[in-house]
Amino acid sequence: MSQSLIVFDASGVVRYQYNNKTNPFNDFIYAIANDTVLYHDSNFISFKSNQRKFYSIKRDKLYTALYFEVVTTIDQEKIRQTLNDVLKTYLKLTENDEDSSKLKKLIDYQFNQLMQYKQQVKAVDNPSSASPINSGTSTPKKTHVTNSKKKMRKWDNGEMVEDGVDESILDYSESKEGSVGPSDNTQQLKVDLSSFSHQDDLILVNELNDILDDSEDDETTQDGSSKSKGVSSFFNKLSSYFGSTVDIQEITKKFQDQLVSKNIHPATSKLILERINNKFGNKTQVTPKEYKDVLVEELTKILTPNVSTDLLYDIKGRNNQRPYVISVVGVNGVGKSTNLAKLAYWFLQNNLNVLICACDTFRSGAVEQLKVHVNNLKTLNNSTSKIDIFEKGYGGGDHVVTTAKLAINHAQQESYDIVLIDTAGRTHSNAKLMTPLKKFGDAANPDKIIMVGEALVGTDSIDQAINFNNAFGNRRNLDFFIISKVDTVGDLVGTMINMVMATKVPILFMGTGQTYTDIKRLNIKRIVDMLTN
Ligand code: GDP
Repeated sequence: MSQSLIVFDASGVVRYQYNNKTNPFNDFIYAIANDTVLYHDSNFISFKSNQRKFYSIKRDKLYTALYFEVVTTIDQEKIRQTLNDVLKTYLKLTENDEDSSKLKKLIDYQFNQLMQYKQQVKAVDNPSSASPINSGTSTPKKTHVTNSKKKMRKWDNGEMVEDGVDESILDYSESKEGSVGPSDNTQQLKVDLSSFSHQDDLILVNELNDILDDSEDDETTQDGSSKSKGVSSFFNKLSSYFGSTVDIQEITKKFQDQLVSKNIHPATSKLILERINNKFGNKTQVTPKEYKDVLVEELTKILTPNVSTDLLYDIKGRNNQRPYVISVVGVNGVGKSTNLAKLAYWFLQNNLNVLICACDTFRSGAVEQLKVHVNNLKTLNNSTSKIDIFEKGYGGGDHVVTTAKLAINHAQQESYDIVLIDTAGRTHSNAKLMTPLKKFGDAANPDKIIMVGEALVGTDSIDQAINFNNAFGNRRNLDFFIISKVDTVGDLVGTMINMVMATKVPILFMGTGQTYTDIKRLNIKRIVDMLTN
C-alpha cells in the first residue's frame, strides 16, 4: 500500500507511523515545524506536494497526517473525521499509558477502515469493477439513499479532489469548537434499511454481526479453537503453545494479558479470572479449552441482561396517558445527540410520534445541532408518524428542569408517544456538574435513563459508568447503556465488560457509525468471541 499515516509533534518528531513510510512526509513535517503551513480554523488542512495530496489535523500540539495520490475519491470530511479519530485514539491511549500494541491495533484499524471506504467508493463509482467487500456468509449491505442530490465535484486550486460521496452527515464535533458548521441540506442523507428487520408489525434493530469482516470468516473447530483464514488467533496460539493440559496459573496469566489487550480494565479482568479459578476449585491443571469454556460462560453471564431490553414492548405495551420519556446522558462528545437521533429514527419506523427536547441548555450550538438532526429526520421520515423539537433556548439554574417539564406537557397535549431528552455533556468526575442530574431526574422522572459511553474510552469507562449510575440518587439507576463508536475499535470491545460489570446496567444498543441506521443490538456471542479468540 502506498498510503501512509503518521502522528508527530510540533518539533517534527514522529511519534507514530503506520508503515515505516515517513519519507514522503519530510517536506510536510519540515513546513509544520517551521510554521510555514497555516491550519484553518478547523485545524484541518490539505496540502499538495510532490504529486501527493496531504491531509493533516492538529490538536494539543500534536499532528496527524496522511497522503493520497493526487486525486482521491474519498470525501475530505471522511478523511478529516478519520484523522480526528486517530489523534483522539493516540492521545487517549498514551495518556492512559496503554500498551503500544493496542495503540497500533486501533490506529491501524481506523486507517484501514478509511482505505476500505476508498475501495467501496471506487466500487460505487465503477460497479463493473466492484468486488465484494465481504466474503462468506455475511449479508451485503443495502444502501437506501434518500433526498439524493446531484453529486457535487469539489475543486481545489483547479484540481478535482472529491466526487460527492459524503458520510459526514452527522458530524458536528468540530462545530462545537466553533469551526465547521452543521451539515446543510446539500448533503446526502443515507440510511441503510437492512439494519432493521420486521417482526409482526414491529421494526427491530438487527444484531451486531459484521463489524470485523475477517473474523466473520473464522470457523470454530471442535476443540473450541478458532480456525482463522488469516492471522492465527490468540486461542490457536495458546493451544499449540501449551499442548493438552496446562498449569492453571500459567493459563490465567495468558488470558489476563489477552483480556487487558482487548481494553478490559486490569482490575476487572483480574476479578473475572479469579471467579474462573474459583470454579476450578483445587484443580491445578486444565486444558486450554476447559479454561476458555468457563471464561466464555462467565463473560456471557456478565453481558446477559437480567432485565428486559425490549424497549418497544415496554413502550407499546403500557397503558399510560403520559408520553414515554427517555433521557440520554454521558460525557461530552461521546455521541449523545447522534444516538438520540438514531433512536428517534427507529421509533419513527415503528410509527411512534417523537418529540425531541433540547435540554443541553448549556453548550452553545447544542440546540441548533439538535435542530439539524430533527430536520434531517423530518426529511427522512417516510412514516405517518411525526417528529419535532421542543426547545426553550439556553439558560442555567432551573432552566433544564422547566424545559423538560414543559416538553412532557406539550407532548401529552399534542399526542406524542415519546419524549427524547438530550442533556448537556458533563465530566463524570466533577461533582458540581453531576449534582444537577439528580434534580433533573426527579423532575422529569424519565421512564428510561440511557447513558451513552464510547467504546474507545478504555480504563476510564468504569468511573464514568459508576458516577453516572450514582448521579440520580439511591433509588434511581441508569437503565441502559448505548456503547457508541464500536466501529472505531475493531475487536477491542472490552469497554462493554468494564461498564456492565461495574454497574450491572445492560447494553441496549451499540452505535456503529454516523448515519441514523448505524445502530445494532448486542450479539453477546460475537462480543465474547472477539474477547477470547
Ligand atoms: P455529544 O456531544 O455526546 O452529543 O456527541 P455527538 O452526538 O455530537 O457526537 C460526537 C461525534 O461522534 C460526532 O462527530 C458524531 O458523528 C460521532 N459519532 C457518534 N456516534 C458515532 C458512532 O457510533 N460511530 C462513529 N464513528 N462516530 C460517531
